[in-house]
Amino acid sequence: MDRLCERDPYYDDMKVAKRAIDQMEMVAMMEGIPKFCPCGGSIVETRKDEKRYYQCEKFKDDRTDCMHIRKLWDKAMEEEVSSLRESVDYNRKKVLNHEYLIEEMQKELKVHRAEIVNVSKVVFRNPMDPKK
Ligand SMILES: [Zn+2]
Repeated sequence: MDRLCERDPYYDDMKVAKRAIDQMEMVAMMEGIPKFCPCGGSIVETRKDEKRYYQCEKFKDDRTDCMHIRKLWDKAMEEEVSSLRESVDYNRKKVLNHEYLIEEMQKELKVHRAEIVNVSKVVFRNPMDPKK
């Protein structure tokens, strides 16, 4: 910590404000089904006005609470499915790439096996070989 900053009479207030801003940013940026609230509170499923929500257990039911997670169940599911689709596409490409590499390695293996057979024929038919 910078000592000049700690002597600032507003240093503690700025730290509290910074933490609050960071928490609000984390709440706003959280994608998919929330697994935790940045405050440390647990996420629970609730219903209000025939809508389902994922929300922090500490959420205050008013429009000013932006410090805790409260997310529409539908939106969370949509984001989660979208994220899973991206993950599936990424992993599918990796699998296809690995399948291609396996095919290429099998082709190389076939060539090497043929070379080994040819070398073996030469070695074992060599009239200079004392074992024959
Ligand atoms: Zn919370």
